Amino acid sequence: MTDLKDATRSPDWQDDVRQGVRHVRDLDRLPLSPAERAAAQAAAAHHKVRAPKAYLDLIDWNDPADPIRAQVIPSLGELVETEGELGDPIADHAFSPEPRLTHRHADRVLLFPTYQCAVYCRFCFRKESLTSIGRGYTREALEPALAYIADHPEIREVILTGGDPLSLPDNALAEIVARIEAIPHVRLLRIHTRVPVALPSRISSGLVEALQGRLMVTVVTHFNHAREITDATEVACRTMRQAGFVLLNQSVLLKGVNDSIEVLEELCRELMYRLGVKPYYLHHGDLARGMAHRRTTIAQGQALVEALRARLSGICNPVYVLDLPEGGGKVPLGSCPIEGRDGESWRIRGLDGAVRDYTEVVGE
Ligand code: SF4
Repeated sequence: MTDLKDATRSPDWQDDVRQGVRHVRDLDRLPLSPAERAAAQAAAAHHKVRAPKAYLDLIDWNDPADPIRAQVIPSLGELVETEGELGDPIADHAFSPEPRLTHRHADRVLLFPTYQCAVYCRFCFRKESLTSIGRGYTREALEPALAYIADHPEIREVILTGGDPLSLPDNALAEIVARIEAIPHVRLLRIHTRVPVALPSRISSGLVEALQGRLMVTVVTHFNHAREITDATEVACRTMRQAGFVLLNQSVLLKGVNDSIEVLEELCRELMYRLGVKPYYLHHGDLARGMAHRRTTIAQGQALVEALRARLSGICNPVYVLDLPEGGGKVPLGSCPIEGRDGESWRIRGLDGAVRDYTEVVGE
């Protein structure tokens, strides 16, 4: 079974894929200078290139620093490897007891039904797995991972990630969901996807039905810039909300894409107010190879989230996290507002920057 090309699709969906970039040779159709095209071709040899038309249409080709372009058009910066960068930044492989499965934390697993995506993001921290494994879904390939989940009653959440699970056909998704639902100790199905951002026409009633069933479904989208929020993404998110899915968003902090307070503020507000998607995590850039040109410092990230905290309501504020190497997990990086403590008396910095005393009052 293959991915995108075999799915039952609306014409929009099919057209978006067909008219987008699917191969290196399709870069010839983009309005790139000869030097930019040569750079893109060179970088695409290391990390695949793919972008649906709907996403490419968001690019302002007159702006070489366009934030949408920076996310999908390969560039020479990707070929520069910097000391300290890693092929498997969060140790997916070290915590993989079976193919297509990562079990890092007791109550949840990552399941990789496919190593293919509707869009290949230049900053992807799994790009080396996508290249080296690269395979789509087959029933047989997932059997050992499903047997492992069934044998481990401590697993409550299954996270379909990738590769992009929503790049699969409806019948494949329905089959995978049915297998997971048959494991009684699994309570929650989580789906990590860029499809609602890059290929929103794919979010059809058929896709939603394929995911519905016994399990609570949480879809974690991946918007990085407010320019990715369009009428089409609004329809896609409304379709998923109306199906009863919980919608969260994780963004990656990317230099030249969203490393300004104005861009992040607009992104978080539009996610919550227009799409009904809760900003969940803002990831510090992982140590993926060839990504130094897109990484900020942690101090820069902390300053940005401190400013965000002062401007946005709690529901619009994401948590700034670093996914530690060696499987250390996601740790919050936001600066600590506690300035000091003397017994039950604390000195705590408020949103206005002023430090106040707070004395705990707790009954016996
Ligand atoms: S869709 Fe996700 S897995 Fe695929 S390239 Fe983008 S970030 Fe990586």
